[in-house]
Amino acid sequence: MIKKIYFITYHYVRPIKNSKYPNLKGLEYKKFVKQLDLLKKKFHILDYDELLNLINKKSLKNDNKDKCILTFDDGYKDNIKYVYPELKKRKISGFFFPTVKSTNMEVLNVNKIQFLLAKERSAKKILNQIYFQLPDSEIKDIKKKEKKFINNHPYDSKNISFIKYLLNIYLGKRREKIINILFKKLVTKNKLSFAKKLYLSKKDLVELHKNKMYIGCHGTSHVHLDQINKKTFEFEINENIKFLKRLKIFRKEWIMCYPFGAYNKSVINFLKKKNCFLGLTVKSGFNVLNKIKKFEIRRIDCNEVEKMFN
Ligand SMILES: [Zn+2]
Repeated sequence: MIKKIYFITYHYVRPIKNSKYPNLKGLEYKKFVKQLDLLKKKFHILDYDELLNLINKKSLKNDNKDKCILTFDDGYKDNIKYVYPELKKRKISGFFFPTVKSTNMEVLNVNKIQFLLAKERSAKKILNQIYFQLPDSEIKDIKKKEKKFINNHPYDSKNISFIKYLLNIYLGKRREKIINILFKKLVTKNKLSFAKKLYLSKKDLVELHKNKMYIGCHGTSHVHLDQINKKTFEFEINENIKFLKRLKIFRKEWIMCYPFGAYNKSVINFLKKKNCFLGLTVKSGFNVLNKIKKFEIRRIDCNEVEKMFN
């Protein structure tokens, strides 16, 4: 029998509809609770030790059920506020992947952009704010680009896609500065209190770890590991390990969850050298135990769960 291993990916899990950010892309808390019951019925949900055993010895005792692992990216406060109590109630374990910067209460660029888009519903208004930061001579060119822009993202409108393109790619070195101006203007002036509400603290991580949850690596500053040089990606990973060691929550055999799902061969080689035993991607699908690609683990987004398993 082929044993399938399903990894499920979660980001935000919270009450979204009636919140301050109703456009935030995430999973409604109520839906999450139902999902847990569905997954628990259908699968053997693994904790860290069981997963490690399964990967090393390729079999678990007394169990023919397919396996499932619950993974939570980016270290959001949602994890301890909404996720953890539900897991605890059901005696199941979760795998959490915070970054170092966010745990140190620095708002990541990726989150600044998300909340900009979640708070300001008018994409035109955001675009105008971006243009306002640029010299007149450049705006004509950009507007031409805007007209010709082809949207490749199935979940985003053309305007939103174009904003993401400007902020992530087009602006280049001016990116950080302009994202900060927009975030301050449209979301909040108080970054620290925003971060404290958004991210898990060090104390939260220790609490999760003590209660049989696994805390793994998601890098130091949430960057594409395949787009930086060797020295920089080694720093991203080494600092992450040191950080977990300082908190005394590091497991010798550890799991990397690639930020943006981005990796390459040299990243994988370095991970192997550092005693990492799994690398989680954002490629969609399940994994087959005896053919498992340990550093290219496929995952299923939580929004696909009902479609797949109901
Ligand atoms: Zn992430």
